[in-house]
Amino acid sequence: MTDLLGQVYAAAGPYLESLAARPVQDRDALKLLASLSGPLPEAGAEPAEVIERLLAVGTAAATTSSGPRFFHFVTGGVTPAALAADWAAALLDQNAFSKVSSPFAHEVETVALGWLRELFGLPASWGGALVASATFANFTALGCATHWWGFQHGVDTAADGLAELPRMPVLSSGYVHSSARKALQMLGHGRNSVTVCARDGAGRVDLALMRRRLESLKGAHGVIIANAGEVNTGDFDPIAELAGLAQEFGCWLHVDGAFGLFAALSPRTSGLVAGVDRADSIAADGHKWLNVPYESGFALIREPARLHEAFGMPGAAYLPGAGDPAAGYALSGPESSRRARSLPIWATLAAYGKEGHRAMVEKHLDLAQHLAALVDAAPELERLAPVPLCIVCFRAAPPGVTDLDDFNRRLGAALLEDGRVYAGTTLYDGHVALRPAIVNWRTTREDIDFFVDVVRELAAYVNSR
Ligand SMILES: *Cc1c(COP(=O)(O)O)cnc(C)c1O
Repeated sequence: MTDLLGQVYAAAGPYLESLAARPVQDRDALKLLASLSGPLPEAGAEPAEVIERLLAVGTAAATTSSGPRFFHFVTGGVTPAALAADWAAALLDQNAFSKVSSPFAHEVETVALGWLRELFGLPASWGGALVASATFANFTALGCATHWWGFQHGVDTAADGLAELPRMPVLSSGYVHSSARKALQMLGHGRNSVTVCARDGAGRVDLALMRRRLESLKGAHGVIIANAGEVNTGDFDPIAELAGLAQEFGCWLHVDGAFGLFAALSPRTSGLVAGVDRADSIAADGHKWLNVPYESGFALIREPARLHEAFGMPGAAYLPGAGDPAAGYALSGPESSRRARSLPIWATLAAYGKEGHRAMVEKHLDLAQHLAALVDAAPELERLAPVPLCIVCFRAAPPGVTDLDDFNRRLGAALLEDGRVYAGTTLYDGHVALRPAIVNWRTTREDIDFFVDVVRELAAYVNSR
């Protein structure tokens, strides 16, 4: 077995060293994928040969999303301590289900959740759950909100569902993320349950409209979703104002801070999340700006008991119940058996501390400003929004091009086809735009310069065709 692990270790050095220079995607290498398919083997093969084949294809065809020039979506890298701890998690193969299945994993998760609360300046009385993603964190938090809301109507939704209830009112700005809608979809409310209160095409919140909508509920309780870090520009809803409305109208306040919650780490941006401590629940990701491996989301909940109420599994005689000292995190989140995803979180926070993670966030804030300045200085590039955080929303607008949306769609496709750097297109305020996000510890100023060079080169190429 250790020989097989040795094969992985031997591949790791050259692969990690290649990250700084290799393209984000080698299109030719994708042809190798065919060598992994075929019928299910009857007899199997030498494990050493199998692992060799997997590594050969993987190290060539892998998308370099942990490298420094992947600016698509919001995709963090992996710190060295987090990567090593993730290997340890695979080695130890713990089931972080309960204190019985792994006292070790349970304890590390408890410490990791406590450190995350501290990192974001939240009180120790808050609870939480480590989950697979921010989508699942939104699901977990809105699951607690659903249970709370059912309780206001005298219904235990965990036991009896939603059938006897009216539709749960959910209000947000136009910044609401599709994964929050997906969470509502999975919880049985439907993704269309969100009433969007926006005052412009970018989706900025219309507080007066939200107030009128809340008044029209005539005392019925609802849920307000505040968005901390909108995916096109990194902009924020005014959380404190939404907290005020939630308080006034008896609503649950949920904050989707998948990456934006990390604004709390720097005094330069902490004002953007002012009021987040007044939320009832918060969803965020570790695999974005904490730079730990996938799958690492977390939900933080003001009243931890609500997690057990919404996600407990009473009635299985062979499992510990919610109040049982042997119980664990499986009873406070959507998953039952789960890997020890706390290990990389614990390790990166232990290794680099609050200081190290603040420095990483601030480096990315600086790089985003640098990118914005390069965009502003390029005559054929046009920035579409301010840069409060780590995302720069811009488009190419060369003189003479009339259909800029079509042009930028083709530019976005050319970027992915080229593969040296990655960034994605979006529709922002009615315009097709690029929205590179900078959240990888490996990214340097030179990578940003190179990104702009490639964008300008490809814009000229698209324009010439
Ligand atoms: C990325 C993101 C999500 C979803 O996160 P996953 O980890 O991909 O599930 C939710 N909300 C916001 C604001 C995001 O940026």
